[in-house]
Amino acid sequence: MKQQFINGQFIDAIDKQTFEVLNPATEEVVSLVSFGNDKDCLLAIDAAQTAFAAWSKTTPYQRAEILKKAANNIRENIDAIAHTMVLESGKPLPEAKGEIGVAANLFEWYAEEAKRSYGKVIPTNRVDKRSSVICQPMGVIGIITAWNFPAYNPARAWAAALAAGCTVVAKPAEDTPLTAYHLAETLVNAGLPNGVLNLVLGNAPAIGQAMLNHPHLKKISFTGSTRVGKLLMDGASKKHTKLSLELGGNAPVLIFDDVDVDAVAKAAAISRFRNNGQVCTSAQRFYVHKNIFEEFKILITKYVSALKVGNGFEDGVNVGPLITKKQQESVLALLEKAKAEGAEILTGGNIPTKFSKGYFLQPCVVAGLTQASALAQNEIFGPVLPLFSFEDLDDAIAKANDTEYGLASYIFTNNLKTATLASERLEFGIVGINEWAPHGTESPFGGWKQSGQGHESGSEGLFEYLEKKLISVGLSL
Ligand code: NAD
Repeated sequence: MKQQFINGQFIDAIDKQTFEVLNPATEEVVSLVSFGNDKDCLLAIDAAQTAFAAWSKTTPYQRAEILKKAANNIRENIDAIAHTMVLESGKPLPEAKGEIGVAANLFEWYAEEAKRSYGKVIPTNRVDKRSSVICQPMGVIGIITAWNFPAYNPARAWAAALAAGCTVVAKPAEDTPLTAYHLAETLVNAGLPNGVLNLVLGNAPAIGQAMLNHPHLKKISFTGSTRVGKLLMDGASKKHTKLSLELGGNAPVLIFDDVDVDAVAKAAAISRFRNNGQVCTSAQRFYVHKNIFEEFKILITKYVSALKVGNGFEDGVNVGPLITKKQQESVLALLEKAKAEGAEILTGGNIPTKFSKGYFLQPCVVAGLTQASALAQNEIFGPVLPLFSFEDLDDAIAKANDTEYGLASYIFTNNLKTATLASERLEFGIVGINEWAPHGTESPFGGWKQSGQGHESGSEGLFEYLEKKLISVGLSL
């Protein structure tokens, strides 16, 4: 049983409610967790507000000592944390370990970067005046995160906010909260003072509303769907709560006819189905040049058919279960729509019969779709790879940009001119050229259009949690 973590204490939810975290591969209960609501959230905000007074006055060097210890604790406990992550998320063990390594790197990187939260001195146009800008921690931050990266999503925002000198009320996702508890424990063991990080779980709309209503909660960092991001934007006007929003994606992949088709198809089959396609930056819409379309179609179908589906603990498994029955149904519904639109299913798309339990779905490749198709216009968040063809650069760019989303995009070509022009014309916050993981701890990560606002990671991520203050000194009196 996991309780709420407020002011350094593990306590039951005020209304004593609990919920079950399920293993999506077996449908067994992994743990009971306290199910809190707005009342628990208010308690956590009060604790964070009290703790802010002292934490915001520590130096970045003092905070760095704790955050670096936490990074090391995470590395030392990687096996236990990865075990928990596979149980609650279903992802393959090597993916879980890779993600936890990145979470540790985030704590270490922000521990160092906060030492560089520089302001500036501004030359003025008067001899009797001096101007400077300093950066100060914003205050209490609400951090609401999605289930799909149970360590990375919280770590990315927690590390930056804590390093900046803010205190945190975190609400991890109810589907995968247990990994977040491990992270919180590593921070506590590293010496994080009481109240600096608090964990509340339960009724998400009530907790979100309590954050938006509270004058002491200065910002919400939200990682999740565009739908909930919009709800938070509506609610944020009441108390002028600031927002960082990392929302949904629908990434296009442009594959030009000068590439090594086999190599790109082989890597695409791994990239698209990482975490079962449940990744905001997941390469989703595959636009392939008409000259290589048929060849690519045959190769990608071959490689996707060979992917091994199973429990994330099994050796050699590439693809685990989807996170919930609801998610499985949502992907199946999109596939039904595609079939009704005349789509050709080249492989997969069925529930594999070898599993009596779990939310598995056979990795799927689909062709014969138009731009208007549900599989082109929606974020699929599942193991489906839709194929489209394009005529030339203009056609590819027009199709790629034809979406309300603007998070990640991908280009594969060996032609420098094509890569340069395409990257400049794509309306996305992230462009990967000849690579499938265009992000890093040290680089800004953020979406255009309805994929979000603000940035996480990199120095940009730190400044999301710092306020700028102009200090103007008159010298004439
Ligand atoms: P979701 O929006 O349903 O939930 C995200 C979080 O918001 C969860 O903690 C949930 O409990 C909480 N929540 C739900 N309703 C709320 C409300 N009314 N008020 C406040 N909080 C509320 O998203 P999900 O299904 O968990 O995650 C998948 C989505 O997240 C996808 O769209 C994916 O692209 C996106 N995502 C984006 C990024 C990014 O960095 N851009 C990273 C990971 C996931």
